[in-house]
Amino acid sequence: MLKKNIIDEFYSLVQVDDSDGHYAKDIKDNNYFGLPLDKIVAAEKRLRSSGEKGIAYFSMEYGLATSCYNKFSSQLPLKEENSLPENAVFSNFRVADYFFVLHSDNIIDLPIYSGGLGVLAGDTVKTMADYKLPAAAIGILWNSGYFRQKFWFKYGQAPEKMHWDPYTYPGLIPLKNRIKISLKSEDVYLRLWKYYIYSSKHDAVVPLILLDSNVEPNSENARNLTDQLYRSDNVFLKLLQRVILGFGGISALSELGYNIDIYHLNEGHAVFAFVAKARGLADDEVEKLKSKFVYTCHTPVEAGHDRFSFDDLNKVLKQEDTDIIERFGKERPGLANLTLLSMNISSATNAVSHNHQKVMHIQFPKYKDQIQYVTNGVHPYTWMSHNFQDLFEKFSAVFPDFKSNPMILSKAVALKADSGFRSQLWQAHQSNKADLCKFLDKWKLDKDIFTICWARRVAAYKRPSLILHDISKLVRIAEEIGPIQIILAGKAHPNDNLGFTYINEMLDKVDQLNEDYDKLKIIFLENYDISLGKLLTSSVDVWLNNPLPPFEASGTSGMKAILNGVLQMSTVDGWVAEAADRPIGAFFGYKNSEGSVGNEFDLHMNEDAEELYATLSGLVRLYYKTNHNGKVDASSAWIDMMIECICVAAQFNTYRMLDQYKSLIWKIA
Ligand SMILES: *Cc1c(COP(=O)(O)O)cnc(C)c1O
Repeated sequence: MLKKNIIDEFYSLVQVDDSDGHYAKDIKDNNYFGLPLDKIVAAEKRLRSSGEKGIAYFSMEYGLATSCYNKFSSQLPLKEENSLPENAVFSNFRVADYFFVLHSDNIIDLPIYSGGLGVLAGDTVKTMADYKLPAAAIGILWNSGYFRQKFWFKYGQAPEKMHWDPYTYPGLIPLKNRIKISLKSEDVYLRLWKYYIYSSKHDAVVPLILLDSNVEPNSENARNLTDQLYRSDNVFLKLLQRVILGFGGISALSELGYNIDIYHLNEGHAVFAFVAKARGLADDEVEKLKSKFVYTCHTPVEAGHDRFSFDDLNKVLKQEDTDIIERFGKERPGLANLTLLSMNISSATNAVSHNHQKVMHIQFPKYKDQIQYVTNGVHPYTWMSHNFQDLFEKFSAVFPDFKSNPMILSKAVALKADSGFRSQLWQAHQSNKADLCKFLDKWKLDKDIFTICWARRVAAYKRPSLILHDISKLVRIAEEIGPIQIILAGKAHPNDNLGFTYINEMLDKVDQLNEDYDKLKIIFLENYDISLGKLLTSSVDVWLNNPLPPFEASGTSGMKAILNGVLQMSTVDGWVAEAADRPIGAFFGYKNSEGSVGNEFDLHMNEDAEELYATLSGLVRLYYKTNHNGKVDASSAWIDMMIECICVAAQFNTYRMLDQYKSLIWKIA
């Protein structure tokens, strides 16, 4: 009786478009692709009631990987195009590269993200579910994802269009609901999709609404708008992707009857949502509307601030819409700036680390009083390895409820003198490292060799090739102190020519070391994604982060690493500046002078490579004092640092982050 009611309620609240009935196999009784259906019904009802302040979170991308979190199951077999492709490896152990590729049985990450911004959005929404907030997330269904990275021998990255099948992706459902957005010379129809993001305990969900222009009766051009994330080769495509998120998001919320009081713009990409809401309002109503919008800025890098000429805006948008943009977002005559627009229409603006706030204050002095900061975080139970979860469970007297209160991890300091904890911590790390070695078995990694990783988006300011800057020095460290394994991974945006050049250079450097793999093994993994990110951040000994300060607004991959006791080797930038007084690794490199932003293209490669090699030498030396061919010295300072990493992770997570959003930005605490 009860079950029947739940399923009926679900289908009346959620208009699933299921003409051939295949979703009925996965949505029945109290079951939604293996997770509880009644939590969806509760969330859908709650968003439609008017008792609470609903939050709508807008983001161009969401990093969600069923392989790491929200394990949806399906009665249908996994479609070939939704399973992970075989990935190539480019290493200086060339025989293995020729004969082997990497296999995984996993499903692909939901392909609607490109990097850190998306991962942050995904982790934020998971935490909203953990906090049982009345929230909905809005994004776009990218029909061809971002892109698939293929190595073209040692000559660089060949971006390949990716194909996936949203109709059979577990947990993702198309709705019958269509909405329409009206542009100057045509209407664009959008189909709505839904994906549900469960809390860690499966006791609450946040719906993610995805917008899709690939429907009848749209023109061919309109159908392609939601094809690939971040197309920037054509200004109209770039503009219309943002228009779809903003206009489409607002229409979708009203189509679904959600009651929303707070509109959170994760990046300025979504700011046209304000334009859609402000249409036709009187001045005092526009002022009231501003109190409902908040904005998070994610980068100090120039390319991250969208600008469009009013000529272009006028070609696409109706006059009443460009009037609103002109009124709130004009940088100078003829030019609109979405960052300024976002700040002008929001009641709260935040940077994503303390350092980033200082940079924003320099970049936007007129907005100084308005710009706060909330340092980013990572969702602990997505990024903490099972071996570490098991370890903390064993020490539950110290970490009683770490699953619902990650702040308790700071208590690890009390275990510094506990030799049992110290050796089990090392064992947990070695087990993670053994998983990495198994994954790369054909490349013959050794879990008792010092292993360092650089894996992130390949962008100039992140200085991807810094560790390879002088390979003769690298070889010398490996010969004189001890062998080294280096793992690299990262995609360059297909229109970023500089990024391409970095990948060429890196592959070329690896190629030059073809003979030296006994003491220095370098492995560049193709097609970096969340599943690889999780494996790498939890299993290497040292996480390398060497952006040029102050251009890394926050960075989050190092936060994933410290949750797993992985030491940091980093320049002092982004979140790291807030942890650099703690012994969690080694810090080095250029420091920008307070009060100036500096030049993002003056990369200080020579000086910083020198410092990098000196810092690396120190860490390799300490590593081999700690690990003698598999025999560990549990009293080593290395293990003190691992423990300190865990203490610091108590702070750099999305629970602390959401507490701050609630009190400082949404003002609902
Ligand atoms: C965490 C993560 C990022 C962000 O890393 P940064 O350190 O912020 O550059 C990017 N891509 C993937 C796949 C990630 O998991």
